[in-house]
Amino acid sequence: MFDKILIANRGEIALRVVRACREMGIASVAVHSTADSDAMHVRMADEAICIGPPSASQSYLSIPSIIAACEISGAQAIHPGYGFLSENAAFVQIVEDHEITFIGPSAEHIRLMGDKITAKDTMRKLGVPCVPGSDGGVADVDAAKAIGAEFGYPVIVKATAGGGGRGMKLARSEAEMETAFRTARSEAKAAFGNDEVYIEKYLGNPRHIEIQVFGDGKGNAVHLGERDCSLQRRHQKVFEEAPGPAIDAETRARIGKVCADAVAEIGYSGAGTIEFLYEDGEFYFIEMNTRLQVEHPVTEAVFGVDLVREQIRVAAGQPLSFAQDDLQVNGHAIEVRINAEKLPNFAPSPGRITQYHAPGGLGVRMDSGLYDGYSIPPYYDSLIGKLIVHAQDRPAALARLHRALGELIVDGVDTTVPLFHALLEDPAVQTGDYSIHWLEKWLAENLG
Ligand code: ADP
Repeated sequence: MFDKILIANRGEIALRVVRACREMGIASVAVHSTADSDAMHVRMADEAICIGPPSASQSYLSIPSIIAACEISGAQAIHPGYGFLSENAAFVQIVEDHEITFIGPSAEHIRLMGDKITAKDTMRKLGVPCVPGSDGGVADVDAAKAIGAEFGYPVIVKATAGGGGRGMKLARSEAEMETAFRTARSEAKAAFGNDEVYIEKYLGNPRHIEIQVFGDGKGNAVHLGERDCSLQRRHQKVFEEAPGPAIDAETRARIGKVCADAVAEIGYSGAGTIEFLYEDGEFYFIEMNTRLQVEHPVTEAVFGVDLVREQIRVAAGQPLSFAQDDLQVNGHAIEVRINAEKLPNFAPSPGRITQYHAPGGLGVRMDSGLYDGYSIPPYYDSLIGKLIVHAQDRPAALARLHRALGELIVDGVDTTVPLFHALLEDPAVQTGDYSIHWLEKWLAENLG
């Protein structure tokens, strides 16, 4: 096992990793920009190293600075968290070349899944059901129109290098195809430096269901059921739960096995998430994330596991600490993402926290780096905390979420907490009856 791990991230996820390390008796090294000198992950870690100015490109994304911090501190492994360098295959290669262990899958697997056309092709060959659409990249507008005619409109043009919902354009008819195709391409070029696009049938009413998988890198893998992340704004998740309200035990076991077998087959190592759209009882693969997800705590709650501990164990060459039969869903968990944002436009709201009080009690977990007097810097994303509740069933989890949100105090900045208070009043949220398009419509009607 490692003696010391460097955490190449910030905020609540850096704290999450510090906590796992401490419970495992492993020393943790925080890295931080000058804007984060007073951040909680810096205060809680055993050591901290400043790696650059506020701009992420010169700090949290600076590969030479992170490798240097590793060498100075003597850390044997790097945990990347999510975002930043967590799915950067070139970074993983450099880490490995320095004989440092990357806590995550191999550079090869990250590269494979990072290119969505290759990922889809790989998954299809492994028996995972995919969204119907183009066979690989689409070269020009004429080819795009041919695909549209073949599969029927609406279709969606997507960037193979896409992420964060960018480089994705809807074409409702052939008349819209030229603009959709050209816009997706130029957005993809600007955002990812790669303008290759592919086309999928646009699903009108799907849920977002993702399967958590875990591989030991030696050909064994398990699944930890699904998370339903259908409540999205601008393709970004805001409310996630496990198990999915629309998924029964038989369906979970079936799609879970398909996913576990697929990652076992490629010798995948560590945590991964296979994302699907789910419509009329059918699963359609959209992408695989080769890292820990923001919403991993709902899975931890219902399966009673520590996914970060498991990532560290597997990276150190230890076997998985659970077999498929050990993994049973227990109760229901919900996570809400608390962002420092001002409604109704979700404008970033950085600033000084004048008062902070975290909710507590049975089945309540608050993952956050906030504290009284902390100043949220304006340079990074606006996620300031995740509130996770766990109870015996979905109605009890909703009641607990309502209770816990009522206890939470975050003064000094605007947050998305009022959004969740309002959502909990809505019958669709109470019954779990919605698709990925529901929240946008609800926001337009209720906050617009
Ligand atoms: P990104 O990596 O940019 O997040 P994804 O492929 O994961 O891109 O898609 C993000 C979201 O976009 C999905 O959760 C869904 O809301 C929407 N989406 C993607 N593909 C389709 C599709 N074929 N039909 C309808 N919605 C889609």
